[in-house]
Amino acid sequence: MENLCKNYVIAIDGEAGTGKSTLAKNIAKKYNIVYMDTGAMYRCVTLDMLNKGISMDDTKKIQQMLDNIKIEIENNNGEDRFILNGEDVTKKIREKNVNDNVSQVSHIPVVRERMVELQRRLANGKKIVMEGRDIGTNVFPNAQVKIYLTASAQVKAKRRYEQNKQNGIDIPFEEIYNNVVFRDNNDKTSDVAPLKKADDAFELDTTNYTLDEVENIVVKKIKEKVILDD
Ligand code: C5P
Repeated sequence: MENLCKNYVIAIDGEAGTGKSTLAKNIAKKYNIVYMDTGAMYRCVTLDMLNKGISMDDTKKIQQMLDNIKIEIENNNGEDRFILNGEDVTKKIREKNVNDNVSQVSHIPVVRERMVELQRRLANGKKIVMEGRDIGTNVFPNAQVKIYLTASAQVKAKRRYEQNKQNGIDIPFEEIYNNVVFRDNNDKTSDVAPLKKADDAFELDTTNYTLDEVENIVVKKIKEKVILDD
Protein backbone atom coordinates (compact mmCIF):
# COMPACT_ATOMS: atom_id res chain seq x y z
CA MET A 1 0.00 0.00 0.00
CA GLU A 2 1.34 3.41 -1.00
CA ASN A 3 1.79 6.00 1.73
CA LEU A 4 -1.06 8.47 2.24
CA CYS A 5 1.10 11.54 1.59
CA LYS A 6 2.77 10.24 -1.54
CA ASN A 7 1.76 11.41 -4.98
CA TYR A 8 0.38 8.82 -7.31
CA VAL A 9 -0.98 8.25 -10.78
CA ILE A 10 -4.17 6.32 -11.44
CA ALA A 11 -4.07 5.43 -15.14
CA ILE A 12 -7.42 4.68 -16.77
CA ASP A 13 -7.00 3.49 -20.35
CA GLY A 14 -9.36 1.88 -22.80
CA GLU A 15 -11.45 2.12 -25.92
CA ALA A 16 -13.66 5.07 -26.91
CA GLY A 17 -17.01 5.12 -25.10
CA THR A 18 -16.16 2.71 -22.29
CA GLY A 19 -17.06 5.34 -19.68
CA LYS A 20 -13.46 6.33 -18.87
CA SER A 21 -14.20 10.06 -18.68
CA THR A 22 -17.21 9.81 -16.40
CA LEU A 23 -15.44 7.31 -14.18
CA ALA A 24 -12.23 9.33 -13.92
CA LYS A 25 -14.13 12.57 -13.30
CA ASN A 26 -16.26 11.01 -10.54
CA ILE A 27 -13.24 9.50 -8.81
CA ALA A 28 -11.34 12.80 -9.00
CA LYS A 29 -14.25 14.72 -7.52
CA LYS A 30 -15.01 12.25 -4.75
CA TYR A 31 -11.44 11.79 -3.58
CA ASN A 32 -10.10 15.25 -4.32
CA ILE A 33 -7.59 14.14 -6.96
CA VAL A 34 -6.57 16.08 -10.08
CA TYR A 35 -8.26 14.84 -13.27
CA MET A 36 -6.69 14.86 -16.71
CA ASP A 37 -8.47 14.07 -19.97
CA THR A 38 -5.60 13.36 -22.36
CA GLY A 39 -7.95 12.64 -25.29
CA ALA A 40 -9.13 16.26 -25.14
CA MET A 41 -5.51 17.40 -25.58
CA TYR A 42 -5.19 15.39 -28.81
CA ARG A 43 -8.55 16.85 -29.85
CA CYS A 44 -7.21 20.40 -29.32
CA VAL A 45 -4.15 19.67 -31.47
CA THR A 46 -6.40 18.20 -34.17
CA LEU A 47 -8.65 21.27 -34.16
CA ASP A 48 -5.64 23.59 -34.41
CA MET A 49 -4.34 21.62 -37.41
CA LEU A 50 -7.74 21.70 -39.10
CA ASN A 51 -8.18 25.43 -38.40
CA LYS A 52 -4.78 26.15 -39.91
CA GLY A 53 -5.25 23.74 -42.85
CA ILE A 54 -2.06 21.83 -42.01
CA SER A 55 -1.79 18.41 -43.64
CA MET A 56 -0.91 15.28 -41.67
CA ASP A 57 2.44 14.80 -43.43
CA ASP A 58 3.71 18.37 -43.14
CA THR A 59 6.03 17.72 -40.19
CA LYS A 60 7.63 21.17 -40.36
CA LYS A 61 4.33 23.04 -40.09
CA ILE A 62 3.10 20.64 -37.39
CA GLN A 63 6.23 21.32 -35.37
CA GLN A 64 5.77 25.08 -35.76
CA MET A 65 2.16 24.77 -34.70
CA LEU A 66 3.15 22.74 -31.63
CA ASP A 67 5.80 25.33 -30.71
CA ASN A 68 3.07 27.98 -30.52
CA ILE A 69 0.04 26.03 -29.33
CA LYS A 70 -1.50 27.06 -26.03
CA ILE A 71 -3.82 24.54 -24.39
CA GLU A 72 -5.36 25.66 -21.11
CA ILE A 73 -7.76 23.72 -18.93
CA GLU A 74 -10.07 25.81 -16.78
CA ASN A 75 -12.43 24.43 -14.21
CA ASN A 76 -15.76 26.20 -14.32
CA ASN A 77 -18.36 25.11 -11.76
CA GLY A 78 -16.91 21.60 -11.68
CA GLU A 79 -16.78 21.36 -15.51
CA ASP A 80 -13.49 21.39 -17.39
CA ARG A 81 -13.34 23.96 -20.20
CA PHE A 82 -10.66 23.59 -22.88
CA ILE A 83 -9.14 26.84 -24.10
CA LEU A 84 -7.14 26.58 -27.33
CA ASN A 85 -5.03 29.65 -28.15
CA GLY A 86 -7.41 31.81 -26.12
CA GLU A 87 -10.67 30.38 -27.52
CA ASP A 88 -13.06 28.16 -25.56
CA VAL A 89 -13.25 25.04 -27.77
CA THR A 90 -14.92 22.68 -25.26
CA LYS A 91 -17.76 21.97 -27.65
CA LYS A 92 -15.87 22.23 -30.94
CA ILE A 93 -13.40 19.49 -30.03
CA ARG A 94 -16.31 16.98 -29.85
CA GLU A 95 -17.59 17.75 -33.36
CA LYS A 96 -17.45 15.54 -36.44
CA ASN A 97 -14.40 17.00 -38.18
CA VAL A 98 -12.34 16.46 -35.02
CA ASN A 99 -13.80 12.97 -34.39
CA ASP A 100 -12.87 11.98 -37.95
CA ASN A 101 -9.26 13.14 -37.73
CA VAL A 102 -8.12 12.87 -34.11
CA SER A 103 -7.01 9.24 -34.27
CA GLN A 104 -4.68 9.90 -37.23
CA VAL A 105 -3.34 13.11 -35.69
CA SER A 106 -2.60 11.37 -32.40
CA HIS A 107 -0.38 8.89 -34.26
CA ILE A 108 1.93 11.55 -35.66
CA PRO A 109 5.16 10.92 -33.69
CA VAL A 110 5.97 14.57 -32.96
CA VAL A 111 2.41 15.23 -31.73
CA ARG A 112 2.58 12.24 -29.42
CA GLU A 113 6.04 13.21 -28.15
CA ARG A 114 4.92 16.73 -27.22
CA MET A 115 1.64 15.65 -25.62
CA VAL A 116 3.32 12.97 -23.51
CA GLU A 117 5.91 15.53 -22.38
CA LEU A 118 3.12 17.96 -21.44
CA GLN A 119 1.12 15.28 -19.62
CA ARG A 120 4.13 14.23 -17.56
CA ARG A 121 4.91 17.86 -16.71
CA LEU A 122 1.33 18.65 -15.68
CA ALA A 123 1.11 15.52 -13.52
CA ASN A 124 4.37 16.16 -11.72
CA GLY A 125 4.02 16.23 -7.93
CA LYS A 126 0.28 15.55 -7.91
CA LYS A 127 -2.21 12.88 -7.00
CA ILE A 128 -3.81 12.47 -10.37
CA VAL A 129 -6.26 10.33 -12.29
CA MET A 130 -5.34 10.35 -15.98
CA GLU A 131 -7.59 9.00 -18.64
CA GLY A 132 -6.45 8.03 -22.14
CA ARG A 133 -5.06 5.26 -24.33
CA ASP A 134 -1.41 4.89 -23.40
CA ILE A 135 -1.16 6.21 -19.85
CA GLY A 136 -0.33 2.87 -18.21
CA THR A 137 1.86 1.63 -21.06
CA ASN A 138 3.71 4.74 -22.19
CA VAL A 139 3.09 7.99 -20.28
CA PHE A 140 3.37 6.50 -16.78
CA PRO A 141 4.53 2.87 -17.09
CA ASN A 142 5.18 2.95 -13.33
CA ALA A 143 1.71 4.25 -12.40
CA GLN A 144 0.61 2.91 -9.02
CA VAL A 145 -2.81 1.90 -10.38
CA LYS A 146 -3.66 0.81 -13.92
CA ILE A 147 -7.19 0.18 -15.12
CA TYR A 148 -8.12 -0.96 -18.65
CA LEU A 149 -11.76 -0.70 -19.76
CA THR A 150 -13.50 -2.37 -22.69
CA ALA A 151 -17.13 -2.73 -23.86
CA SER A 152 -19.04 -4.01 -26.89
CA ALA A 153 -19.11 -1.66 -29.90
CA GLN A 154 -22.89 -1.22 -29.63
CA VAL A 155 -22.71 -0.16 -25.99
CA LYS A 156 -19.72 2.12 -26.57
CA ALA A 157 -21.52 3.95 -29.38
CA LYS A 158 -24.69 4.25 -27.31
CA ARG A 159 -22.77 5.80 -24.41
CA ARG A 160 -21.05 8.31 -26.72
CA TYR A 161 -24.40 9.14 -28.31
CA GLU A 162 -25.97 9.86 -24.91
CA GLN A 163 -22.93 11.84 -23.77
CA ASN A 164 -23.12 14.02 -26.90
CA LYS A 165 -26.85 14.55 -26.45
CA GLN A 166 -26.26 15.76 -22.90
CA ASN A 167 -23.66 18.19 -24.20
CA GLY A 168 -25.98 19.50 -26.94
CA ILE A 169 -24.07 17.79 -29.76
CA ASP A 170 -26.31 16.17 -32.36
CA ILE A 171 -24.56 13.35 -34.26
CA PRO A 172 -26.58 10.38 -35.65
CA PHE A 173 -26.09 7.06 -33.83
CA GLU A 174 -24.83 5.22 -36.93
CA GLU A 175 -22.16 7.83 -37.55
CA ILE A 176 -20.97 7.55 -33.94
CA TYR A 177 -20.95 3.76 -34.15
CA ASN A 178 -18.80 3.79 -37.31
CA ASN A 179 -16.45 6.38 -35.83
CA VAL A 180 -16.00 4.46 -32.56
CA VAL A 181 -15.21 1.21 -34.42
CA PHE A 182 -12.84 3.00 -36.80
CA ARG A 183 -10.99 4.85 -34.03
CA ASP A 184 -10.58 1.81 -31.79
CA ASN A 185 -9.18 -0.23 -34.68
CA ASN A 186 -6.90 2.58 -35.72
CA ASP A 187 -5.72 3.17 -32.12
CA LYS A 188 -5.00 -0.53 -31.56
CA THR A 189 -3.00 -0.97 -34.78
CA SER A 190 -0.97 2.25 -34.52
CA ASP A 191 2.83 2.00 -34.83
CA VAL A 192 3.16 4.70 -32.16
CA ALA A 193 2.02 3.76 -28.64
CA PRO A 194 -0.91 1.55 -29.71
CA LEU A 195 -3.92 1.11 -27.46
CA LYS A 196 -3.31 -2.05 -25.46
CA LYS A 197 -3.67 -3.28 -21.95
CA ALA A 198 -0.54 -2.93 -19.82
CA ASP A 199 0.53 -6.33 -18.49
CA ASP A 200 -0.10 -5.22 -14.92
CA ALA A 201 -3.43 -3.45 -15.58
CA PHE A 202 -6.75 -4.57 -14.15
CA GLU A 203 -9.07 -5.22 -17.12
CA LEU A 204 -12.81 -4.75 -16.88
CA ASP A 205 -15.41 -5.41 -19.57
CA THR A 206 -18.05 -2.78 -18.77
CA THR A 207 -20.68 -3.96 -21.29
CA ASN A 208 -23.11 -5.29 -18.72
CA TYR A 209 -22.43 -2.88 -15.89
CA THR A 210 -23.92 0.49 -15.04
CA LEU A 211 -21.56 3.41 -14.44
CA ASP A 212 -22.12 3.11 -10.69
CA GLU A 213 -21.23 -0.59 -10.75
CA VAL A 214 -18.07 0.11 -12.73
CA GLU A 215 -17.13 2.83 -10.26
CA ASN A 216 -17.59 0.51 -7.28
CA ILE A 217 -15.45 -2.22 -8.81
CA VAL A 218 -12.71 0.18 -9.87
CA VAL A 219 -12.60 2.09 -6.57
CA LYS A 220 -12.20 -1.21 -4.75
CA LYS A 221 -9.23 -2.05 -6.99
CA ILE A 222 -7.70 1.39 -6.48
CA LYS A 223 -8.00 1.03 -2.71
CA GLU A 224 -5.90 -2.13 -2.89
CA LYS A 225 -3.02 -0.02 -4.19
CA VAL A 226 -3.29 3.49 -2.77
CA ILE A 227 -5.05 5.22 0.08
CA LEU A 228 -7.90 7.44 -1.12
CA ASP A 229 -8.95 10.35 1.09
CA ASP A 230 -12.69 9.78 1.62
O1 C5P B 1 -10.70 9.90 -25.27
P1 C5P B 1 -11.11 10.45 -26.62
O2 C5P B 1 -12.07 9.56 -27.35
O3 C5P B 1 -11.59 11.86 -26.55
O4 C5P B 1 -9.76 10.47 -27.46
C1 C5P B 1 -9.73 10.91 -28.79
C2 C5P B 1 -8.59 10.23 -29.56
O5 C5P B 1 -7.34 10.71 -29.04
C3 C5P B 1 -8.53 8.73 -29.45
O6 C5P B 1 -9.32 8.08 -30.44
C4 C5P B 1 -7.06 8.43 -29.66
O7 C5P B 1 -6.78 8.35 -31.04
C5 C5P B 1 -6.38 9.69 -29.13
N1 C5P B 1 -5.76 9.49 -27.82
C6 C5P B 1 -4.50 8.96 -27.78
N2 C5P B 1 -3.84 8.83 -26.58
C7 C5P B 1 -4.41 9.21 -25.44
C8 C5P B 1 -5.73 9.74 -25.46
C9 C5P B 1 -6.38 9.84 -26.67
O8 C5P B 1 -3.96 8.59 -28.81
N3 C5P B 1 -3.72 9.10 -24.30
